[in-house]
Amino acid sequence: MDIYLDSNKEIAERVSDLLLRMTIEEKILLLRGKDFWTTNSIERLKIPSFGMTDGPLGVAAHSSFKGKRTRFPGTIGLAATWNKELAYQMGKAMGKETKLAGRHQILGPGVNLIRSPLCGRNFEYLSEDPILSSDLGAELVKGIQSENTASCIKHYITNNSETKRMKISTEISERALQEVYVKNYKRIIEKADPWGLMVCYNKINGTYGAENKYILRDILRDQLHFTGHVVTDWGASRAAVEGAAGCIKAGLNLEMPGLFLAKTLKPKKVMKAINEGKIIETDIDYVVKPLLRTFFRVGLFDHPTPETQKIIDIPEHQAIAQAVAEESIVLLKNDGHILPVNLEKTKKIAIMGPNAKKIFGKYLQGGSSAAVPPRFVTPYDGIAKYIGEKGEIVEKPEDADIVLLILGLDHGSNMLKAMLTKMEGDTEGKDRTKYSLPDAQMQLFYDTIQRNPNTVVILIAGSPIDCAPFLEKSPALLNAWYPGMMGGDALARILFGEISPSGKLPVTFPKKLKDHPAHLSKDRFPGDLKNLKIHFDEGIYIGYRYFDKENVVPQFPFGYGLSYTTFELSNLRLDKAQIITAGTFNVSVDVKNTGSIAGSEVIQIYLADDEASVERPLRELQGFGKIHLVPGETKAVIISLDQSAFEFYSVKDHKFIAESGDFTIYAGTSSRNLPLNIKMQYQA
Ligand code: BGC
Repeated sequence: MDIYLDSNKEIAERVSDLLLRMTIEEKILLLRGKDFWTTNSIERLKIPSFGMTDGPLGVAAHSSFKGKRTRFPGTIGLAATWNKELAYQMGKAMGKETKLAGRHQILGPGVNLIRSPLCGRNFEYLSEDPILSSDLGAELVKGIQSENTASCIKHYITNNSETKRMKISTEISERALQEVYVKNYKRIIEKADPWGLMVCYNKINGTYGAENKYILRDILRDQLHFTGHVVTDWGASRAAVEGAAGCIKAGLNLEMPGLFLAKTLKPKKVMKAINEGKIIETDIDYVVKPLLRTFFRVGLFDHPTPETQKIIDIPEHQAIAQAVAEESIVLLKNDGHILPVNLEKTKKIAIMGPNAKKIFGKYLQGGSSAAVPPRFVTPYDGIAKYIGEKGEIVEKPEDADIVLLILGLDHGSNMLKAMLTKMEGDTEGKDRTKYSLPDAQMQLFYDTIQRNPNTVVILIAGSPIDCAPFLEKSPALLNAWYPGMMGGDALARILFGEISPSGKLPVTFPKKLKDHPAHLSKDRFPGDLKNLKIHFDEGIYIGYRYFDKENVVPQFPFGYGLSYTTFELSNLRLDKAQIITAGTFNVSVDVKNTGSIAGSEVIQIYLADDEASVERPLRELQGFGKIHLVPGETKAVIISLDQSAFEFYSVKDHKFIAESGDFTIYAGTSSRNLPLNIKMQYQA
């Protein structure tokens, strides 16, 4: 048997063997898609076609034969769970469904950092913080790949808004690029070894991602040791100034899609570049190799591609979607313990608002992430089912004991329509222009609260929203993100106290947009649209790092979220008081449930460099752990950290370094509630 066809051989050996057998024409044929979602097959060598599908909210319909598949909560909701195990489970379910849909790679997770509350794709990203984003992103990747499906972390790099995404250039310093944005990828690569990565549409400091050697080779391959393949965002290489030679030299492995949308790596053009001496065969080998590695990793040669399943209806996966939704819901305000709703006493309930009955999960809605589920439990469905015979649903606010007003954002509509019309929402291809909810919803809120002061506001949205009016007038406020196909059931269980909310904000909510570091000037967001430049002038001070530095009070801080119960933290301790160079150390905190209801709490560990040779953020999240406790119970949460917790990016040395000295470790339940701290020393 040929070595490359022998599944008992090591992948590296199989790659080398296959590469030796391929003609240059065959190699070139693999570098560009055949159609929208697959690569070319090569019959002579029995190389099957490799198939991709969109994510990251589940296996998307438009790219997987218009099938119905589990629709998970928006990824920002997953981040709000701060639960790594759930991220792994969600990834694993998606990996399995990708296979069942007859594909080999899911185009996700989306790990762009949430730089502005207005980015249209916040709902499919994780967090403003590189540690939270990468810890959960890595678990998603591990879960996906545990099913021998390739992940594809995207959109590398600095594609943090949608306005002019195909032309705009991110203007960013070396330190901010590395310490914030690269760090997010660095940690995912170190922890999970993703098999795929998608390069962005935008330029980085003047050069398109798809032909940016600094980004793709110097950083991704040489610094981060990425072993997977790089695919373009769909059509992202079209504008490459240096054409085929530029992209190949930069280290691009696959241009997608095929057809008319991607023309740069057409075989004729690649051959021409070779004939002109701009590239040579070893350049081609360099970019074909990682692609072959992925082919072997997913078992492309070893297992036949499964038959496509039209409907994937798997209760265990839906249960994971529900568990994520339940843990993602953030309780932002709860005056007088109005929540949970006690159905013994509260009989008449009004369920109102534009998002109460809205189905999220339609074809291409919100863009390429649109997974279409076999069924969808809206908030209204879930709440009504839960109430059943125990209460009565009334229509008018004034007839109700309590009003559940379900507001929020929308995916606009079909992505193409959203791009062509003035529609605002959480959608690919477009950013929001306003921080507050649409006027009609605010009008509805004022009208409802006037008719019944017991109006609880529930937000269904994928981005921060101005909550000032709700904070002022409403007794309670919940943020449910986009809770996915089981969201209505999850919401009902939270509202009626089956479970206590345990979600924590993965992003800062500013009081006003102009308090936010990405919105101090138009050049920062949406960018200088005349010169097509977006200036990341906040540098390393993304999200809470800026609010802390400038002492700006946010509406809700990063990491914030209430519970129906209360917790007490004590006894912050380290297993080592002094850390010498590499190695891990444990930070432990005792947590007690001091209330009368079972609940979960997220313990967050932040680190401050007491004295550094460069300016550093006041403190940064370095780790976290979630714990479930029954009333009166105390348990220790142990969070393991390593040397990277002390590091910053040195522009002098062009690498991450940690300086010897004193550090303070803070523990608490949000970036602004850190009751415990302890000193430690690091010795380089
Ligand atoms: C999006 C990607 C997506 C690709 C394929 C692009 O427009 O930015 O996230 O995976 O299309 O649908």
